[in-house]
Amino acid sequence: MTGKKQNSPVGRNGAEKPRTGAGGEARSSLFQKAAAPKKRAQSRAKGRQGKNGNGKAEAASAQGAAESHQKIRRKRQPKGEAASLKQKLAAAPASVRPSVLSAPQPAAPKARAGRQNRPGRKASKKPPLRAYFLGGLNEIGKNLTVFECEDDMIIVDCGMAFPDGDMLGVDMVIPDFTFIERNVDKIRGVVLTHGHEDHIGALPFLLKRFNFPIYGTRFTLALVDSKLKEHGLQNKVRAVMVRPGDHIRLGCMDVEFIHVNHSIPDAVALAIHSPAGTIVHTGDFKIDCTPTMGEMIDLARFAELGKEGVLAMFCDSTNAERPGYTKSESKVDDSFDRLFQLAEKDRIIIATFASNVSRVQQIINCAVKYGRKVALSGRSMVNVMTIGAEMGYLNVPKGALIDIDQISRYPKEKIVLVTTGSQGEPMSALTRMAFADHRKVEVGPGDFIIISARPIPGNEKTIGNVIDELMKRGCKVIYESMYEVHVSGHACQEELKLLQAL
Ligand SMILES: [Zn+2]
Repeated sequence: MTGKKQNSPVGRNGAEKPRTGAGGEARSSLFQKAAAPKKRAQSRAKGRQGKNGNGKAEAASAQGAAESHQKIRRKRQPKGEAASLKQKLAAAPASVRPSVLSAPQPAAPKARAGRQNRPGRKASKKPPLRAYFLGGLNEIGKNLTVFECEDDMIIVDCGMAFPDGDMLGVDMVIPDFTFIERNVDKIRGVVLTHGHEDHIGALPFLLKRFNFPIYGTRFTLALVDSKLKEHGLQNKVRAVMVRPGDHIRLGCMDVEFIHVNHSIPDAVALAIHSPAGTIVHTGDFKIDCTPTMGEMIDLARFAELGKEGVLAMFCDSTNAERPGYTKSESKVDDSFDRLFQLAEKDRIIIATFASNVSRVQQIINCAVKYGRKVALSGRSMVNVMTIGAEMGYLNVPKGALIDIDQISRYPKEKIVLVTTGSQGEPMSALTRMAFADHRKVEVGPGDFIIISARPIPGNEKTIGNVIDELMKRGCKVIYESMYEVHVSGHACQEELKLLQAL
């Protein structure tokens, strides 16, 4: 397939270009990988935590990348060279040693054992547990982690990433599957944490090549199913639906699913119980005491696991540089209410993530309250909301939703248009509207546009261009820094600290 780039973590390590970070300043990561601020899924062995429990970005992820690289190379060594490599590794600085997570010593006290021992430093009778990051570490997107214990491996998530601005002609970036190909006989299945593109987007490309069973929650599997249909893979994949609290056995590992809050329904964290010990993989999460959809995160289970002893926690670190707590989804309700009043006679157009079912539900509720009809724009928006409504995640009162072709039949003050394009994606509905390229919607004075999302790091410029263009056409534009029209789906520092403390 053209327009798709396979991204090798081995090749990337020494060749990553400087890129613009969340704060807007260029981060020259060339040859300075170890000092680069981390973005995602950091491996944090609890035993190494020490004084550094403030949830701040650490250099450990760069080590993880180096370790992953190292382990992949290690696999290639002929048997006879294994011993000499071992010696070399022992002499190597800590940053390039493999991230093998060993179980605590048998003599160690059971509770909090992981905190009192330095994992991976002492000989242990228990088998080691290895983690390989084929994506998602040091970057936003293409999350794919492989856990190995004894002769078994499991894959956690299989996401895609958006191409950087300099990847001309590339539509999407997927992880390099070479490592999986080499270990295909060991892999027992693919476990999914939630249905965002950066966690399931590359799944069809994996399943086209390998016939692994997949495990996920109801909404996640529904999104995967529509993706597999697009790729002609329906009925060819064994998909097993799980619920929070369920356990599945994959080789020597027992995977437990734990309910978390995130910006998509049915997100879960994983506790992977293995002969080496238990590790926790949080997936993407936040702690929302007043979610607008579903229950609060199952903190009690995390606390129990902490008491039982956790070897390591792999944690969502998207917002690790943001202090405080992520605000509750309920906050957005108040903002929408105020803005719907402010819009008066204008047509309201709201751009948000297509997968954020609870946000669209909030918009529908507000529209009903103010006597407006809701229309959806953008293929992925229509697709996800159709699935959401069919499965009962989205509650649409009769007559509240109209087809986009019908919007011209209503006066402007009776319409709310919910659209994709909150990231300024070139082909998205909002971008087309901004550049007068949308077949059905023309924008101008009398349009009140709300961007209910935050730019994913790297997208600031493209979304800025779209906002400028909309304003030039005479639209009023409201975005996150003006009103609380968006809250993140990821935990901030205080939430990360809380989870680590548990
Ligand atoms: Zn997510």
